[in-house]
Amino acid sequence: MKIIDILKQDRVTLSLEAFPPKNDSAFDTVINAVDRMSGLRPDFMSVTYGAGGGTSKNTVKIASHVQNDLGMTALAHLTCVSSTREEVAHQLDAMRACGIENVLALRGDIPKDAAFPLPEQYRYASELVSEIKSRGDFCIGAACYPEGHTECEHKEDDIAHLKHKVDCGVDFLTTQMFFDNNVLYNFLYRIRERGITVPVVAGIMPVINGKQIARACELSGTYLPTRFKMIVDKWSDKPDAMRQAGIAYATEQIIDLIANGVRAIHIYSMNRPEVAAAIVENLSYIIGDKQ
Ligand code: FAD
Repeated sequence: MKIIDILKQDRVTLSLEAFPPKNDSAFDTVINAVDRMSGLRPDFMSVTYGAGGGTSKNTVKIASHVQNDLGMTALAHLTCVSSTREEVAHQLDAMRACGIENVLALRGDIPKDAAFPLPEQYRYASELVSEIKSRGDFCIGAACYPEGHTECEHKEDDIAHLKHKVDCGVDFLTTQMFFDNNVLYNFLYRIRERGITVPVVAGIMPVINGKQIARACELSGTYLPTRFKMIVDKWSDKPDAMRQAGIAYATEQIIDLIANGVRAIHIYSMNRPEVAAAIVENLSYIIGDKQ
């Protein structure tokens, strides 16, 4: 099923995420995590793409497992920063061959040790979106950044670039993680004002490793509210407590989003079925099977 048709339904949707293994020996472990997450019956499951080789070859394989063996809607990520147009065409053909209808079109991070952009190759995700659009009937998602993308100095310019990307053929957007919902509400107001009308899926990161998240937020420029920092400071050395607090924080964020009319929630579940399951259970009377 196309994700845009799921998002158009008059209800709250919840999606989960898997990432491919860094080496083939961990493939079965990832499949096992995917299978367990599928038991939570998410509306779709996304599979990330490792830019520049490594895990990239397994994205379509895992997305195909989601789509064909588990009978769920799969969203395959695809980055273009380190790819030739032929490689992109090859990936899209592979997706089409196994019935994957949804692709998240991304640029990827610019590699530090390679020339960019390669001659005649992609520079921005918008070019990949146009390419996919020209190749047929995929439902196309893209990334957006409520706090602005790190490379772009002015948020208004970032939103102008986003508008161009959407106009190239994006059906829906998924946000970068954020820990203060007001950041999202403000962003939604600003993009709607600029005429970006496609559905926006709110990306929620349950924090289970305090130190890792502090570093990731520093790199991505994500604002950490004091309330959140206090939690990380208190429990980052106690993994069980940190996981419990991270699940509670993510749950609260999602409840507030839904209460304020956000209808599409994506959990960055990172191959952690137990974390996804705890959040889904916390929401069972709100969006789950007990409502
Ligand atoms: P773009 O939309 O191309 O934007 C990149 C930068 O270029 C922005 O600063 C933008 O303002 C600027 N820009 C765009 N168009 C123009 C223009 N015409 N002129 C001037 N500047 C312009 N990475 C992975 O490697 N694999 C994944 O699976 C993955 N999944 C992700 C999923 C989500 C939901 C998100 C939010 C990010 C994901 N990423 C992933 C990270 C992403 O690849 C990086 O954040 C990357 O740096 C930007 O990708 P993009 O598609 O947003 O790029």
